[in-house]
Amino acid sequence: MARYIFITGGVVSSLGKGLMAASLAALLQARGYKVRIRKFDPYLNVDPGTMSPYQHGEVYVTDDGAETDLDLGHYERFTGVSARQSDNITSGRVYRDIIAKERRGDYLGATVQVIPHVTDAIKEFALADQDGHDFILCEIGGTVGDIESLPFMEAIRQLRYDLEPLQTLSVHVTLVPYIAAAGELKTKPTQHSVRELASLGIKPDVLLCRAEHPIPDGERTKIANFCNVRKEAVIPALDASSIYSVPLQYHEAGLDGEVLRGFGITDAKDPDLSRWNDVVDRRENPEGEVTIGVVGKYVGLQDAYKSLNEALVHGGMANRVKVNIRWIDAEIFTGDEEEIIAALEPLHGILVPGGFGERGSEGKISSVRFARERNVPFFGICLGMQMACVEAARAAGVERASSTEFGDTAEPVVGIITEWMSEEGIQERQEGGDMGGTMRLGAYDAKLSENSHVAQIYGGALEISERHRHRYEVNAAYIDRLQAQGLVFSGMSPDGLLPEIVERPDHPWFVGVQFHPELKSRPFDPHPLFAGFVAAAVEQSRLV
Ligand code: GLN
Repeated sequence: MARYIFITGGVVSSLGKGLMAASLAALLQARGYKVRIRKFDPYLNVDPGTMSPYQHGEVYVTDDGAETDLDLGHYERFTGVSARQSDNITSGRVYRDIIAKERRGDYLGATVQVIPHVTDAIKEFALADQDGHDFILCEIGGTVGDIESLPFMEAIRQLRYDLEPLQTLSVHVTLVPYIAAAGELKTKPTQHSVRELASLGIKPDVLLCRAEHPIPDGERTKIANFCNVRKEAVIPALDASSIYSVPLQYHEAGLDGEVLRGFGITDAKDPDLSRWNDVVDRRENPEGEVTIGVVGKYVGLQDAYKSLNEALVHGGMANRVKVNIRWIDAEIFTGDEEEIIAALEPLHGILVPGGFGERGSEGKISSVRFARERNVPFFGICLGMQMACVEAARAAGVERASSTEFGDTAEPVVGIITEWMSEEGIQERQEGGDMGGTMRLGAYDAKLSENSHVAQIYGGALEISERHRHRYEVNAAYIDRLQAQGLVFSGMSPDGLLPEIVERPDHPWFVGVQFHPELKSRPFDPHPLFAGFVAAAVEQSRLV
């Protein structure tokens, strides 16, 4: 049976618990253990699928089609382990399932209560799908003391008694702030946070203390004494130069060693950190740089494009260059050509990412045209691919080409799909149906044309699997006209009905994909499309 590590946070939010969980998992993995990470989100949405990216950052999609918290992206990027639906739970989902059972009469007349019904459902989720894992790390969203996280805390408390004594461990992430006026680091917030946790019946075994300055020995001792942990288990977690140096830094600070000790494991292998040393070396010692413009809608909040941002960084690592990302609000383009040239001319590559809604779409289409006409490397993802098709249609003389997502149109080059094939058979949706969980979601295969540019990018593969999250689709009725204009459909769904990839053979690097390759890129295994795009940008930087 797996060992469980429960990760909670205190003092303030945004301490980087997700990154910490991912880094600890990576360190255990480097010692040869099989790991899995789960996220418990206390909010009442069933999943983050309908939340604005401004509220919650990006929605991370798994192979099995779950719309999950962006922390699952960190987990995958740090461990390479593909997340599943069963790795993210929200209060909303727990309550939805319990209420459905209650309505069916499954509780046989019982009064349905937070304890035991909600807590049992949470425990069941934590204990499910252990299949041969050595460690399952469970990160609890929010901050200790939040009203909505109480049932999760209670479930952990119970689990620590349900399971064997050396089978669970509690890691609490806190903040040790620096008070400039006093010139000191302060331990009191950590003491209060641990007391709050203890009042819920959970005693932490390891404290991970985020701090901007090294924590002096005296303060470490003080935290240990006041918080009932060993001094060695008070781990200083200082700000890192990049997120990918966090595993190495936490190892240096003793985190994984202390966790293993907490489980009574004395015969663990030393970790093989060569993968992380290489990643950090590539990140910190680039041999050049390129500037990529991302023309999107949610450019004010980088978490909205978290995986995209990271995939571009990985593409840079693959080419040993630094990628400077210029976030460009598509709405700034009002149709004035000078404006477009001023914003896009300095770029070595233009990327139009996924998105929803009409706002900024004309700016995105103008960016595609600029990239096409000027031979600048172009990468369109999901909505970006759809805009590349609308742009090609307009170039082919279909002046009113548009997407039905933006309202009624006489020329629906992109339109809604109400029926498609998945592994579970035909999927059907109603126009105007529910917004939550009703898109084409998760991993689908695509067939690539022989001798196409994308087949070459994927190392000669003719069949690929990538993750999707979209409701609209390029309309097959326009394919012939678009191909005649020069846009080649080089990837299609296996049944040949749904366009998956477009490219331009007469252009140095022009690729549009209906899926989200950024979700599968890892620092130690950059996605070939991002590696290829950044390589093309490097070429472009030599020309300008
Ligand atoms: N809004 C588009 C659709 O639903 C594209 C979605 C996306 O880019 N993820 O098809």
